[in-house]
Formats: sequence, C-alpha cells, structure tokens
Amino acid sequence: MSDLYAVLGVQKGASQDEIKKSYRRLANKYHPDKTKGDKAKEEKFKEVQKAYEVLSDPQKRQQYDTFGQAQGPGMGGMGFDPRDFAQGFGGGGAEAFSDIFEAFFGGGARGQRSKGPQKQTIPGEDIQVIAKIKFEDSVFGTELNLKLKRVERCDTCKGSGAEPKSKIISCQNCSGTGQVKKVNQTLLGQMVATQVCHMCSGEGQIPEVRCTKCNSHKRHSVTQEVKVKVPAGIRSGSSIRLKDKGNQGINSQDGDLYVKIQVEESQKYSRRDYDIYSNQHISVIQAVLGDEIEVETVHGLEKVVIPPGSEHGKQITLKGLGVPFLGEKDKRGNHILILNVDIPKKISKKERTLYLELAKESGIEITPGKSGLLW
Ligand SMILES: [Zn+2]
Ligand SMILES: [Zn+2]
Repeated sequence: MSDLYAVLGVQKGASQDEIKKSYRRLANKYHPDKTKGDKAKEEKFKEVQKAYEVLSDPQKRQQYDTFGQAQGPGMGGMGFDPRDFAQGFGGGGAEAFSDIFEAFFGGGARGQRSKGPQKQTIPGEDIQVIAKIKFEDSVFGTELNLKLKRVERCDTCKGSGAEPKSKIISCQNCSGTGQVKKVNQTLLGQMVATQVCHMCSGEGQIPEVRCTKCNSHKRHSVTQEVKVKVPAGIRSGSSIRLKDKGNQGINSQDGDLYVKIQVEESQKYSRRDYDIYSNQHISVIQAVLGDEIEVETVHGLEKVVIPPGSEHGKQITLKGLGVPFLGEKDKRGNHILILNVDIPKKISKKERTLYLELAKESGIEITPGKSGLLW
C-alpha cells in the first residue's frame, strides 16, 4: 500500500480542507468518465478514493497515522480479504471458514453475520435544547424562534452517499457481503469475530464516486430555524416536544426536538402552582389607618384596599389575577399580595414631636434613656 498522503499529494499535517481540495482535483482528473479505458488511470482513481476515505475521517486518519500499513485488517479496504483468512485455516474459501466459525462459537454470535448485506440504518437522534423565557411570557405564552444545529439527510445525495449520477458498485472490501471477519490471536487460540464492513456500512455496495458534500456520511449538519409555541401557564423545567425536528435518520425514524423551558426569575413576582406572589411595601401609617392603593399585577394595575390595622406579613388575595391554567385559558390562579410594613429609620423633628404626642395619647410612656443614645 502506498503512502495515503502521497496519493493525495498533500503533506502529512494537511488540514481537512487541503485534503478535500486535493481529493476533488484528483478525483476529477482520474474520473473514469474522462479516462475511458485507461487502466492505469482507473487504478489511480481507486487509490485516490481509498486514500480520501481514510484521511477524511478523523478517526481513521488517526489510526492510519498511528499504525500505518501494519493495521491491515482493521483498516479495511487496504487489501484485506476475508478469503485470505479462510485459506489460512486450511483452504476451502469463505464457506469453509464460516463453518469453522460456527462450530467454534455454536452460532451465538451469528445473528448479525448471517443476514448478509443490509441497508444501513442510522437512527435520528433526539435533540434537547434549553430556552430561557421571561416570567411574563410563561404566564401569557409566547412564540420562540430558535436557531439550532441538527443533522439532516444530505441534500446533494438525498442520503444515498453517492455523488449524483455516480454508479453503485459492489464493495471490494467485503466482496459485497457487507461483513468482514477479523481474527485475533488470544490465549485460547485464534478468535474470529464478524464485523459490519465499514467501507460500505454493511450494505455490500458503495457508490463509485462518494458524495463530495457529505463524504458518503449521508447526513450533514445544518442550522435550522424552529418556531416553538410556548403555551400560557407553562412551568419552568417543562419540555415541549416537536416531533421529527431532531436529527434526521437514514432508513430510520427522525428524532424529536425537546425544548426545555427555563423561566427567568422575576424581580417583582414569584409563582407557586398557578398563584403569583408579590411583596407590597406600605408605611406604618397606612398599616394603622388603612388605605386604597394601586398595585402592579401581571394583568395590569389593580386597586386594592388595605384594611385598617393590617399587620406585617398579612396576605391579600386578588382573585383570578394569577397564572392561566395550562390548557384552560379561562381559569386562572390568584395574585397574593404580602404586606411589608416599613418602619422608618429616620424621621424629621416634627414627625418625632407628633409621634411623642401619639404616644401620650395612647398612654405609652417613652423613656429617652440615660445613655443618651436615644434622641
Ligand atoms: Zn451527500
Ligand atoms: Zn463492504
């Protein structure tokens, strides 16, 4: 096997971009359509394909850099042929080989192997994202426009992995069986394992020219915009499921998108079930005398009567001014005001005089204190 970097005419440390560019140039130059009948150039074309197959895949490239040619079977497509191993067992071709294999393992591991070439399936994975929304939006509902990445079927090859108009040919690595066998030397002797052929992903067929957009991975990452309807009354931590908006699968279902809603904390309000709580500061005088005030609720300003003699911590319920029930727009929780009676830290001289008079009127004797700390 020749040096894969040399085949593509790039340096060992070449970037993926350089590799891709060089591959495109060479694939174009040696393409069978242009070099009809020239066997040498056809071979060259295959070499370029193989080199790109390895060097364009970060994992395979690393393996190649580490093990180079010595990695033979594991690398696949590098002259490995399961029949070579069969002959190693005493000849008889692939069938005899599989007989030995089955006798040895009693058939347990054969389920997959005996199926032969199969369409590759890649399940569409679910995606979960977190979206933060404002407290008010959780009360009234909102619509989000999310921009997020997902993996879609390649639009150039429509998920086939083949460059448009490319011929589909039998996979050389597995001779069209979709399977390769791997022999490992162990203490118990030779162990044989059957693996899905990674060149054709078990399909037994590969495109003559790989799709240049997805490099035959059949899918590629795109940024999608998704509109998400957030219902009124949603709680922080709940997820909205959008069917089939996750990653797209190959011969398999598409994944779903889960948008997990995180409601930002509000400066003014907190929520318990469908009730909204807020603190209302009032003065001592309002607490004693009572008052009619305007308070903020998520539904707008609301006139509220503070009864005379209201204590600190008293709760006043404003019916129906809370969060709409999820899925039941007409029903709402309540808004609960918690009274915070402010005690003034500083008062004017005149206020002090009035408080002292008030004390006298209420029969309370105020002692200025010997230390003089008071007043
Ligand atoms: Zn493609
Ligand atoms: Zn194959």
